[in-house]
Amino acid sequence: MKKISLVLPIYNEQDTIPELYKRLTAALSQDFSDFLHEIIFVDDGSRDQSPLLLKKLSDTDPTVKSIIFSRNFGHHIAISAGLDYATGDYVVIMDSDLQDEPESIITLYNKLQEGYDVVYAQRLNKKFSWFKRTMSKFFLTCMHFLINEKIEINSTIFRIMKKQVVDEVRRIRETQRYVVGIIGWVGFKHTSIPVEHGIRKYGETKYPFFKQIKLACNAIFSFSEYPLRLITFLGFSFTFISFCLGSWIVMRSFLYQAPVLGWTSLIAAVLFMGGIQLSVMGIIGEYLGRLYIEVKKRPLYVIRDFFNADSLSGELPLFKQEELYGKQFFR
Ligand code: UDP
Ligand code: MG
Repeated sequence: MKKISLVLPIYNEQDTIPELYKRLTAALSQDFSDFLHEIIFVDDGSRDQSPLLLKKLSDTDPTVKSIIFSRNFGHHIAISAGLDYATGDYVVIMDSDLQDEPESIITLYNKLQEGYDVVYAQRLNKKFSWFKRTMSKFFLTCMHFLINEKIEINSTIFRIMKKQVVDEVRRIRETQRYVVGIIGWVGFKHTSIPVEHGIRKYGETKYPFFKQIKLACNAIFSFSEYPLRLITFLGFSFTFISFCLGSWIVMRSFLYQAPVLGWTSLIAAVLFMGGIQLSVMGIIGEYLGRLYIEVKKRPLYVIRDFFNADSLSGELPLFKQEELYGKQFFR
């Protein structure tokens, strides 16, 4: 019998959980009745009653597995933890605020059956604010130009994947994570299908502006070297321009005895160059900082509690990971 796993990150979603669970189980029993299933909730350090509610669900329903983080590690790390523990032949990842509708899972699954390995939702009539939609479009356009490999990248988490894809994604342990990019990077056959985007019925968005910026930086600096190339380009351009300008000023003063004037323009040029140098250092610093974090090889997340999640993989038991991926990978 085939098995389907649903992975849902939870951050302060106490008001959503009851309806979410009801709709998930309804969708599973209606559309996937001849499948085994598991619902993996990953609590990303919620400060409300979410962990308690998850414990209750896990106590009453053995197919509900809950992983409770020791603190807030971030949306994409929570999803990664869910993927580490998912055991299904098909794995669905989706947000838990009901904007990704449980009833659409079957649409993704049906499309997958046409011979794809990953099917992601193309959110119709996005119910985000105008500002967020514009930011998201701007981000995707930037990524389109910045990315150095031909990989499928977009902003939608809601997707279904075959086990083989998930196994490959699990091997990638970088901490500055952009899961969508990682899934694109591992390759396989991707496609998308339009599905409705629901409204967030309960609570507020858990993605304030600064978190969106952090995620966008993770995406850009993990998947593109173009900012570094831009620095080289800027360096060469400015050297060339200043050389031409300098030569012209020297020539002018020799040929026409023209005095070198312009304290204001000099200061403007110095400040401009100072600005460029600082931003260049910032960009190099971004890469260096990320290198520093990766070199420390800290685990991706720390788990405080498991409810029903007794599967073999995951971050914690290192010997299990060695069994799974081979000793070489971890030495
Ligand atoms: N989330 C999370 N950790 C965080 C922020 C968000 O696990 O630090 C979860 C949140 O509970 C939700 C999903 O990520 O299931 C997407 O968050 P949200 O719906 O608030 O983002 P938006 O849809 O507004 O972009
Ligand atoms: Mg949402």
